[in-house]
Amino acid sequence: MAARRVSLNTEYLIDMDGVLYRENQLIPGAKEFVTALIASGAPFVFLTNNSSPTPEDLSVRLGHLGLPGISPQHLS
Ligand SMILES: [Mg+2]
Repeated sequence: MAARRVSLNTEYLIDMDGVLYRENQLIPGAKEFVTALIASGAPFVFLTNNSSPTPEDLSVRLGHLGLPGISPQHLS
């Protein structure tokens, strides 16, 4: 698998597992946090140390958890 690159023009690197969700549940406040983060316009990337899912997979998963519309470019 090719290494995924994260833009250096990123203000926030945010872990997902245990921060935005735990197993199949959003963590309380995660949706509000993500909404505010997107509204701020700050560059961000959500990270996982699970290398199996693609960024597209992660976008779909976040959508199912209640965080729709997170572009794969924001996921690594
Ligand atoms: Mg974690």
